[in-house]
Amino acid sequence: MSSFDELGLSGAVLRAVKRAGYDAPTPVQAQAIPIALEGRDIVGASQTGTGKTAAFALPIVSTMKRSTKPQCLVLEPTRELAAQVEDQMNVFSYYKPLNVMLLHGGVGYGHQIEALESKPDIIIATPGRLLDHIEKGNLDLSNIQYLVLDEVDRMLDMGFLPDVKKIIDRCPPGRQTLFFSATMPGAIETLANWALKEPAEVEIGGRRSPAETVSHAFYPVGMDQRDELILELVKRTGFESMMIFTRTKKEADSLLPRIKEIEGTKPTALHSDIRQSDRTKALQGFRDGTFNVIVATDIAARGLDVSGVTHVINYRVPENPEDYVHRIGRTGRAQMEGDAFTILTADELENAAAVEHYVDQKIERRKLDNFNYHYTALLEENPKPLRRRRPPGKRR
Ligand code: AMP
Repeated sequence: MSSFDELGLSGAVLRAVKRAGYDAPTPVQAQAIPIALEGRDIVGASQTGTGKTAAFALPIVSTMKRSTKPQCLVLEPTRELAAQVEDQMNVFSYYKPLNVMLLHGGVGYGHQIEALESKPDIIIATPGRLLDHIEKGNLDLSNIQYLVLDEVDRMLDMGFLPDVKKIIDRCPPGRQTLFFSATMPGAIETLANWALKEPAEVEIGGRRSPAETVSHAFYPVGMDQRDELILELVKRTGFESMMIFTRTKKEADSLLPRIKEIEGTKPTALHSDIRQSDRTKALQGFRDGTFNVIVATDIAARGLDVSGVTHVINYRVPENPEDYVHRIGRTGRAQMEGDAFTILTADELENAAAVEHYVDQKIERRKLDNFNYHYTALLEENPKPLRRRRPPGKRR
């Protein structure tokens, strides 16, 4: 399929797509849009950066009419993702009189209650705050016709599944449900079977393959030199924009001031202890170039639409191989070249092997030239076996 005109979308949506500057549908859009327009449920596995948001938003906006009660609910795991989807919904509904509303935690209730009173048609929400409003009687989902459950595996990771189930239960059974998850562990499959009716499956790019334009490398080092190596790597890498992922908020906070000292860097941080207004500023600043480095925990890794990230550096090897794929999904978007570097210490060898197994490729081990490495067995080209063989003739 080579043109949006052939997908069955309404004239108003086609004009909005043109205004957004999209020339042709991406594969996930070409596959999902005609199915969604037929009113069928969808279960989709699609990598971030593939145009998934438009794949569900365009058919919904295309068929929706202004009403007095919310008709479309989109659930997202993080505030940032919700805000990003809201932006896109506003772009796609530019030529339709639809009221789009964003609802997430971390901000006051007052404005949200006012906005709910102004009769939104489309609500994009994180589960906790949405449920709060439902339980307080501020919101009624009885007219929902379209329910989008996005990044469901992330919602599971964040402990949102009980809330998500309660929310689904509040939506009428006659609704259309569009369900997206990069991975399908058992708990999610069970949820999908319960929430969906004879869904069409849409899978683009495979569930496992990370962005193909990314080149990967592990940088082995002794544990005592992890910080020194990452700082040196940042210093020596010619990057335009870089994301550094740490496992904990504390690691992110402790790296930030040291990265600030490196010439040419304009870093900021993003994690869940940072106030929502500052998280928005950090992300906006990273997008518009005010910052060229963002030090983040995994909250920033999923689905965030940040274009032009040239380098991703992992401070540690992620414990879940899926997180590695989501992190490196920030680079190599839209066919741009990207590099993903991961600092590797001896305690992380199992995680490294899991990542290699998951991405189905051996990741190159690299040594930084002229770096004053202390000894680590990981750096040996042909590491000696740990247990030496007993000399011949000696038996116990
Ligand atoms: P997503 O996977 O939904 O996060 O989308 C990734 C990025 O691709 C967003 O910046 C979209 O605006 C952009 N995008 C989505 N669909 C298209 C398309 N058909 N042509 C060009 N850009 C697109």
